[in-house]
Amino acid sequence: MALAFELQARESPAIVFGPPPDFRTHNTTRTSKMNISITFDVEVWCNGWQDLDRQFPSAFQRYVYGRDRYGYALPKTLEILNKHRLKGVFFVEPLFSYRFGIEPLKEIVGLIADAGQEVQLHLHPEWTDETDPPLLPNVPAKRPYLSQYSLEEQKVLIARGIEALVQCGLPRPTAFRAGNFACNRDTLRALAANGILIDSSVNPSNLESGRDLTPMERSSQPGIIEGVLEYPITVFRDGFGRPRHWQVGSVGFGESIRLIDQARQFGYPHLVLFSHNFEMLIRGSAKPDSIVVSRFGKLCRWLENHSDAYPVASLDRGQIARQESAQTIQMPFMQTASRLSAQIARRLIARLS
Ligand SMILES: [Zn+2]
Repeated sequence: MALAFELQARESPAIVFGPPPDFRTHNTTRTSKMNISITFDVEVWCNGWQDLDRQFPSAFQRYVYGRDRYGYALPKTLEILNKHRLKGVFFVEPLFSYRFGIEPLKEIVGLIADAGQEVQLHLHPEWTDETDPPLLPNVPAKRPYLSQYSLEEQKVLIARGIEALVQCGLPRPTAFRAGNFACNRDTLRALAANGILIDSSVNPSNLESGRDLTPMERSSQPGIIEGVLEYPITVFRDGFGRPRHWQVGSVGFGESIRLIDQARQFGYPHLVLFSHNFEMLIRGSAKPDSIVVSRFGKLCRWLENHSDAYPVASLDRGQIARQESAQTIQMPFMQTASRLSAQIARRLIARLS
């Protein structure tokens, strides 16, 4: 594991401290390539907040390993990425370790780092009042969104998250994603205060995400907010005109290719794909969801075969030519209809299995 950590540290993009590109600059330079980042939120849930200590061991097995003989959670995700020589960014939630100890967190980041993949920081403040002592004073009830915490409280939670990852032997994280995408302006300020200058929390299709940001800052394009380079989750409008974010479990393979193609035509400099450690599992089960497994495998194969035009890249502080006037990606109705029929098939399969 130590070697993998060293490799990761060497390969991690260097943070460029210096004058950041100005969010307001209308830079219309077209990049010759459009980078794509494949990102995962890695977290463990215990089926509610009752009886946590009894639930945790089996929850850990399901969320991390996909339990028993199937193994379609983290190990299979890592295997598929490596088979196609792709680098993902894994935002790992560490606050649970203040309840259950550092070893389970070490096990998670060890799997990722040993696979040569990148670990970054994800936070779910739902854990804040579940630790003894509590991570913050005066949190008598659940506040699941980071945006519900003051700037000072957010600084503390982010610092505790960094501390836990570093305790696992990792270098300090350089990038962040808020749980439920629920960041606000103070989140960006708290990140900068903790030396994290890259964020990927903004989801323009989610109302809780960046509520107090300006419409330009909540756009689909990377840009600087409060000194932090924001890489928003890529969004598009589906065949019914509804905004959706680009997620492995809810966007079909055909839609993904169409999205990439249109984004390139519109001059997008960077796309961010979203997924989870448990995205290939049937909801509430440790069995693989064959449709999502096949979709993820196909997408990875496609990205490997098109790596010249669409390199899969980390989130770094390199200069990004932001397209102020980039058009919204719009899915044709038939593409969405085709995904919906796959979704119905998934539900049937889930019910029969
Ligand atoms: Zn999460």
